[in-house]
Amino acid sequence: MGKKKIAVLAVQGAFAEHIHRMEALGAECIELRQRADLEQEFDGLILPGGESTVQGKLLRELDLLAPLQQKIRNGLPVLGTCAGLILLAGELSNDEHTYFGTLPVRVQRNAYGRQLGSFHTLQEVKGIGSVPMTFIRAPYIESVQEAEEAQAVEILAVVDGHIVAVRYRNQLGIAFHPELDSDNRIHEMFLQMCRA
Ligand code: GLN
Repeated sequence: MGKKKIAVLAVQGAFAEHIHRMEALGAECIELRQRADLEQEFDGLILPGGESTVQGKLLRELDLLAPLQQKIRNGLPVLGTCAGLILLAGELSNDEHTYFGTLPVRVQRNAYGRQLGSFHTLQEVKGIGSVPMTFIRAPYIESVQEAEEAQAVEILAVVDGHIVAVRYRNQLGIAFHPELDSDNRIHEMFLQMCRA
C-alpha cells in the first residue's frame, strides 16, 4: 500500500493543522493555492475551517471551484470541516450562496450564534466512539436529503439534537474542528476512505 497523497485547500483558514494530522498518519500532503496545483495527482481533498465566504470567493477567483467540484462528483474522497462543510453543502439556510453543493444536506452557518458560538464537548461518532469536538462559530446540519438507503446520507454524530457529522459516499462533512484536538480518528477515518 503506497503513501496516499492528500491535497489540502490552503487559500485561507486552518489548513496547516490538517497537514500535521495527515502527515502524522503517514500521508503526504500538498497545498492547493492555485490552478496549477491541480496538475498533480492526489487521492483525497481536505477543505479546512475558516471563513466560507472568503474561501468560496477565492475558489472562484482562482478558478479552482469548478475543477474541484468535478473531482468530488467523480468520487474523489473529501473531508470538509466547519467552513469546509459549508462549501460542500447543497443548501445553506441562511446564505443565498452555495459553493461545491455536492453534499445533499441543508446547513446553517454560525448556527450557535456569533458570540457564544465556540465550545468544546465529547460525543459519540458512529464507528469510532467518543471523540473530542471543538466548535468555533460552527455550522450544523439542519436536515439531510431523504433517499433510499444505498443513496442515503449517513448521520455519524449528533450534539444537542443537531447533526454535526455526516458521510455521503466519498464525502465526509464535519461541523467541528477535528484538527484542533489531539485525536486522530476522524482523519484516520478519512484516510481509510482514501485507501478504499
Ligand atoms: N463561521 C464560519 C463560516 O461561516 C465557519 C467557522 C469555522 O470554520 N470555524 O464560514
